[in-house]
Amino acid sequence: MLDIKSIQLKAKKDEGIRRRHPWVFSGAIKLVEEGIVDGALVQVCSNKGGHLGYGHYSKGTSIAIRMISFDETIPSAEFFQTQIQQAVAVRRDLNLIASEGQNICRLIHAEGDGLPGLIVDYYDRVAVIQTHSLGMHHALPWIVDGLRMALQDELVGVYNKSAKVLRKNGHTTNMDAWVLGSEPENWKAQEHGNSYVIDLIEGQKTGFFIDQRENRFLVSQLSKGKKVLNTFSYTGGFSISALQGGATEVHSLDSSARALEIGEANVLANGYKEEVHQSIQADALDYLKDGVADFDIVILDPPAFAKSASARHAAIQGYKRINLRALETMKSGSLLFTFSCSQAVDDRMFTNTVIAAAIQAGRTARILYRLHQPADHPVSAFHPEGAYLKGLVVRVE
Ligand code: SAH
Repeated sequence: MLDIKSIQLKAKKDEGIRRRHPWVFSGAIKLVEEGIVDGALVQVCSNKGGHLGYGHYSKGTSIAIRMISFDETIPSAEFFQTQIQQAVAVRRDLNLIASEGQNICRLIHAEGDGLPGLIVDYYDRVAVIQTHSLGMHHALPWIVDGLRMALQDELVGVYNKSAKVLRKNGHTTNMDAWVLGSEPENWKAQEHGNSYVIDLIEGQKTGFFIDQRENRFLVSQLSKGKKVLNTFSYTGGFSISALQGGATEVHSLDSSARALEIGEANVLANGYKEEVHQSIQADALDYLKDGVADFDIVILDPPAFAKSASARHAAIQGYKRINLRALETMKSGSLLFTFSCSQAVDDRMFTNTVIAAAIQAGRTARILYRLHQPADHPVSAFHPEGAYLKGLVVRVE
């Protein structure tokens, strides 16, 4: 018999959950039953004691409960199987899993797929799991089983990559390990026909920034005969895409030597000559000071400047500064691809920031495209906060 303890919310604090919003903030909690430990599966009840659903409890964090079910369903192996099956079916229907030249995608996008706290990325028969709550971490065996059933032969290995937040809260040390199988022979992760080295062990996130797939494709469409500067390049996703599209020269800039090294391996692995590509290890803001008038396309894809709403103001200043630096010296007719992956900075704020930078730089700017995260990073209708990636393509005169 499962011993599930309950948590009672304050009056009116059940409204979000009744709309199926999956987060309960610590300030909404009235009563925590004795003996509830961090990471426990808890029953969530309204102020009057009515049952609302089940969630994972995280002690001492601002999001205290991540809801897993909104009815009487107790999360179980079968529950995870169904959720995972559905999420995988979505990606299969999008032709992202095992298509010609395309086998990199996000299989499970946390709240967007009804599994808050869980990220699963897929790289050619290898799934990489990242759990962001202890409760979800405890469900690891069910997750692995669910993936095995949903993917069958299309799964050879599952790697667990511990998230920084779990480590920081002292829950775990390093839990990075193969939890099923291992790296397949002839492992070849591909996106839009390009091959990428996935650095499971030391790479950032799960090894690759899958969310820029469609935006990288747009770069490839617009790069013919162009000279491209890819700042915050990581392992060169945008750089390879530009080369694929016929760029004459690409410069990749990042502060991480290891990311640049893998980027260079990616250039060679895709059959491009060393001469067409240059790596620059530098701080992007410093580098932009020297001017970018040499380039036809400039890409700015910084890490999230705002990790929380309280950091929003500083983040906006940060976005303004780098966009201003680039816009000041870009040549006439050139394109700026500029992004923000900060969830706390929404579309409109980001657009206004880039416009403010263009005004301050005294440049005529046309917004040609508004970009977002792709379909394998879905946003739950009940959790609009899940829309985090936005970008603009601006033509400067
Ligand atoms: N555009 C990449 C993803 C970028 S992730 C892709 O498509 O794969 C952000 C990158 O910015 C990381 O690789 C990180 O090493 C780098 N970075 C962080 N701070 C930086 C700085 N101040 N200057 C240059 N690079 C930085």
